[in-house]
Amino acid sequence: MPYVFEPMKIVGLPIHGSDDLYPVRRVYCVGRNYAAHAREMGFDPNREPPFFFCKANDAQSIVPIKADEIAEIPYPTATQNYHHEVELVVAIGLGGKNIVVADADKHIFGYAVGLDMTRRDLQTSMKEMGRPWEIAKAFDFSAPIGELHTVADSQNIQAADIVLMVNGTTRQHSNISHLTWCVAETIAKLSELFELKAGDLVFTGTPEGVGAVVKGDVMHAEIDGLSPITVKVV
Ligand code: MN
Repeated sequence: MPYVFEPMKIVGLPIHGSDDLYPVRRVYCVGRNYAAHAREMGFDPNREPPFFFCKANDAQSIVPIKADEIAEIPYPTATQNYHHEVELVVAIGLGGKNIVVADADKHIFGYAVGLDMTRRDLQTSMKEMGRPWEIAKAFDFSAPIGELHTVADSQNIQAADIVLMVNGTTRQHSNISHLTWCVAETIAKLSELFELKAGDLVFTGTPEGVGAVVKGDVMHAEIDGLSPITVKVV
């Protein structure tokens, strides 16, 4: 049966050192997964259970970025406090549910640098009213993502430095080892809530130092061993 209009195309992420693309299915995110970021957001950094939200998975939301390009994303509507959150993105290569921590690594295809761009003012008001976060998190162009590095092509990610600069000034600088819930624990917990499938992305949370960007700002995000991304707000 024909569709009544052209169905949307799925997003393909570039894979470092390959001409193949990684087809994206869902985009999961972890909230407050670094203690110092939990503190800066006004929360107790004790090891509360991880919590999750989703970003949109369509080509209007995800911005795949090659290491040698400067991507441009528009300043979004409806915010006066548009924040960067640099994050390690984990790409699932093998699905599963109720995955145990010891097996989680087998489910990872690779890693990338990502930005969980956030309308912080809307998020704050939604939190205060006990309402969902979608308008703060799942808006257009809200998920810039760099080239995926396969597990074999990414060494020692668990102890990699993670950095975000704005116009050359460092705003966020931490280390993946500071994750409250490590990648394996995050995959295990998430797979208790959703059956994971190949193609699922997991934004693992941002370290401290989140802040606003405005039109004209250039963000540069790096995680040791992965392809960096450069994004200009226009
Ligand atoms: Mn985030």
